[in-house]
Amino acid sequence: MDLAGITDLLAAWGEPAYRAKQIFGWLHQKNAEDWQEMSDLPKALRQKLAEETDFQPLRLLRRQDAADGNTVKLLLELADGEQIETVLMLYWRKDSRDRATCCVSSQSGCAMGCAFCATGQYTRFRNLSAGEILAQCYWACRVAREKGFSRLTNVVFMGMGEPLYNLSNVAAALSVLEHPLGLAIGHRRITISTCGIVPQIYRLSQWQQPVELAVSLHSADETLRRQLMPGAGRWTLEQLMAACRDYRQRTGRRLTFEYALFQGINDSPAAAAQLAGLLTGEDILVNIIPANPVEGSVFRPSSAKTVQEFTAACRRLGVYFQLRESRGQDIDGACGQLRKGNQRNGDVFRR
Ligand code: SAH
Ligand code: SF4
Repeated sequence: MDLAGITDLLAAWGEPAYRAKQIFGWLHQKNAEDWQEMSDLPKALRQKLAEETDFQPLRLLRRQDAADGNTVKLLLELADGEQIETVLMLYWRKDSRDRATCCVSSQSGCAMGCAFCATGQYTRFRNLSAGEILAQCYWACRVAREKGFSRLTNVVFMGMGEPLYNLSNVAAALSVLEHPLGLAIGHRRITISTCGIVPQIYRLSQWQQPVELAVSLHSADETLRRQLMPGAGRWTLEQLMAACRDYRQRTGRRLTFEYALFQGINDSPAAAAQLAGLLTGEDILVNIIPANPVEGSVFRPSSAKTVQEFTAACRRLGVYFQLRESRGQDIDGACGQLRKGNQRNGDVFRR
């Protein structure tokens, strides 16, 4: 519930308006786990809230901490029994610009069917509500606080699902995340990742508060990309590039492309040359990511040697890129894997 929603509810109950801000702060800034925690509210009001509202849209099923303690994966259950995952990544920096990034899901599963993606294997899926998106951030924020961070600093929509097909709920969640009485995470610290839904990129560029946009490219070869990413392959690379250029021009924000390296698929020097060709004259940073292995998938991460050769070719060809670390492989790293592991083992841990 946003501030207007809480205000309306309390007005209908004949409660004073200032209570709405109190409740909003408890929910969205202090991330209370229960109405009873809200110690400055009258007991009768807490009781009424508990009876009349559904407090927690997500139940924590399982938590996995990476060995280094800085990546934590959370498996969360929705009210309808579907499961989603959320990842918290902590980056400690000497200059006190520490980052606590929460990677959230926007859908339970995904209809885009990317061949290399564990989430794409789930055909049953639905959009998450704004509350379900926010509740993921709040679970992550509680873990971040436990680890010594005062707050979350960044949110990336790189968990399960395609956020641009759930844009209105994503927008509603962001307006609460950005609220000064909430976690106050500004739009510059929000990244939305898309497989490249062209009409929705045009829609996103109309936002008054533009966010960082990441586009999953993975191949600069039209035919190969369509095979790898059948959902996104509805649009040509030319259409995608035009939408990206439009986003850049309208918002003034730089885009990033994601390029995961899969052994023998998109990691040859020729593939690097195609990438360089596509990006000639564009101001786009490419995040080259060693792929995450997905069990039962033919897509394997490229070897360290191939990654090195691919990046060397990119450097020679003038591709503007950075090689990203892959986090949390020891806790079932990639997209969709935590839930997959959970279903395989059936060893659901209940809090
Ligand atoms: N649906 C959106 C956002 C969620 S996926 C999108 O596709 O962009 C987040 C990122 O994980 C995307 O870049 C996606 O391509 C990537 N990804 C999926 N499976 C992967 C794997 N096995 N290895 C590396 N990256 C993967
Ligand atoms: Fe969906 Fe993104 Fe996975 Fe493709 S990579 S199936 S768009 S979540």
